[in-house]
Amino acid sequence: MGSANADLVVTVERRPAGGETVLGGDTVVMPGGKGANTAVAAGRIGASVSLLGAVGSDGYGSLLRDSLSSSGVDTSLLISSSRPTGIAYITVTPDGENSIVVSPGANSAVAPSDVDAVDWSSVRVLACSLEVPLETVAHAVSAAAAAGVRPVLNLSPVADLPAETLAVLDPLVVNEHEAAQLAPSFPALLDLGPKSVVVTLGARGAAVVTPAGVTEVAAPSVEVVDTTGAGDAFAGALSARLAAGDALEEAASYAVRVAALSVAKAGAQPSYPTAADLD
Ligand code: ADP
Repeated sequence: MGSANADLVVTVERRPAGGETVLGGDTVVMPGGKGANTAVAAGRIGASVSLLGAVGSDGYGSLLRDSLSSSGVDTSLLISSSRPTGIAYITVTPDGENSIVVSPGANSAVAPSDVDAVDWSSVRVLACSLEVPLETVAHAVSAAAAAGVRPVLNLSPVADLPAETLAVLDPLVVNEHEAAQLAPSFPALLDLGPKSVVVTLGARGAAVVTPAGVTEVAAPSVEVVDTTGAGDAFAGALSARLAAGDALEEAASYAVRVAALSVAKAGAQPSYPTAADLD
């Protein structure tokens, strides 16, 4: 469960000041949003995956539906909202820096009642990301846990979640910056309540944190082209491997390989590897 956005990307020499107009390059439109990215990453490596989220009844909604379907993601839980599809307006300057305005649109319409429509009987893992209402995230995590489904949550960016939501996560997934915002050390992340935590460490891979200790999983070394969506690729692959029955460390070592391959190519979803690419 999570967001589906159209990413509208334009390169500019410099960002306009208030009241100013600058010319940019051609607009590139790409399917994105944390939820859709995560689902596509899982689908590409062969997981049976469905995205619970919302898009508008517009062209960007069709773009997202097509991208999900072509990666094997089931869209029967993807709501067609009367609000417009979420859009991320991204400007990129020659130094590679991004500035982003997100218009959540339909993502704001994903409601707890939509979660109640899910039949959990055939679900093994709920992979949740934010950019949809927190109340819906909390409800989905509780509903999944109550049904015996393993909840995985990528808490990016950091947000306040109820203690009972944190308590059932297995794992909570954060990057290094988010981990530092949440706790003074990796083991202290467990004091927030989750059963386990995975901290992604960029080029250094990931750390798996459980009451038994901290284990680091190294990422393969790759030539970096574009790190957009690397965290989502990691979360999708991790969740897919947990659903397939891997232990947490095993799933994390698969996920660092998927995410490393994703940074070696441009874009978010277009960069995600298949199981064959990993071989
Ligand atoms: P986020 O993109 O959410 O900030 P990270 O930067 O930690 O998260 O990246 C997520 C994952 O992507 C890492 O765990 C790793 O597997 C992979 N990754 C990111 N940057 C690199 C890199 N330079 N080389 C290899 N793998 C990378």
